[in-house]
Amino acid sequence: MIPLCNNPAMKPETVLSARGLFKSYHKDRIEVPVLRGLDLEVPSGLVTALVGRSGSGKSTLMHLLATLDHPDSGEVYFRGERIDNASRARRDNYRNHDIGIIFQFYHLLPELSAIENVLTPTMIGRSAWNYFRHRKEASRRAESMLDRVGLLHRATHKPSEMSGGEMQRAAIARALMTDPSMLLADEPTGNLDTDTGLDILKLLTELNQDDGLTVLMITHDDAIAAEADCCLRMQDGQLLPESPALQVA
Ligand code: ADP
Ligand code: MG
Repeated sequence: MIPLCNNPAMKPETVLSARGLFKSYHKDRIEVPVLRGLDLEVPSGLVTALVGRSGSGKSTLMHLLATLDHPDSGEVYFRGERIDNASRARRDNYRNHDIGIIFQFYHLLPELSAIENVLTPTMIGRSAWNYFRHRKEASRRAESMLDRVGLLHRATHKPSEMSGGEMQRAAIARALMTDPSMLLADEPTGNLDTDTGLDILKLLTELNQDDGLTVLMITHDDAIAAEADCCLRMQDGQLLPESPALQVA
């Protein structure tokens, strides 16, 4: 499946791909098929939007791409390496270093300040002693990430003291802490008003343009998707083939 790109001359490499993904859920004794042989290619260095109606399986797909869940069958590759059936250690490493994950509802820890939330990825996988030794360097990086997303002035604020847009900026700063080459964002603007959502989209676009970060952004909002470099559309558990109706300026 070739994604529809605004600029057909662009022929970027594929960074993340999926082949023949099937995934069903089971409720009581009823099987609910969600993904039905889905193929996907995410181009490197671009912002790609994945659009689809609510319930079309976008979050299910993102969980499989992030190795947070297993497909019933099919494969996921990151830079050509099969990742869906990799060892637990490799999958942890993939989630903690190769990619950054952003969710609609931010998933910040309510008791921690913005900067403490941003620091959480550096605590994972380190002994207390190791973390203690590196804490100054980690704090400096956390400050610089908060600055990058325009939130340094809220460093000591807890999530309850921040707006939705600010919480999403904190979640993006946290995702950037481990220097991923790709962000997977599940409806990152879905809980925000239109203008705040567009601000977050602008930030993701800047991260792409300035830092070369690949972004895969799931959305049900065509206006948000229209700002992306490429657009993929999900329907009936598969990606639709290229369609002129998706062409955006
Ligand atoms: P989207 O993100 O596009 O709204 P989802 O991937 O969340 O769609 O869900 C796709 C379908 O799978 C929906 O019908 C949803 O009700 C169902 N579903 C999602 N997660 C589960 C689950 N854990 N158990 C049972 N059904 C689920
Ligand atoms: Mg969803």
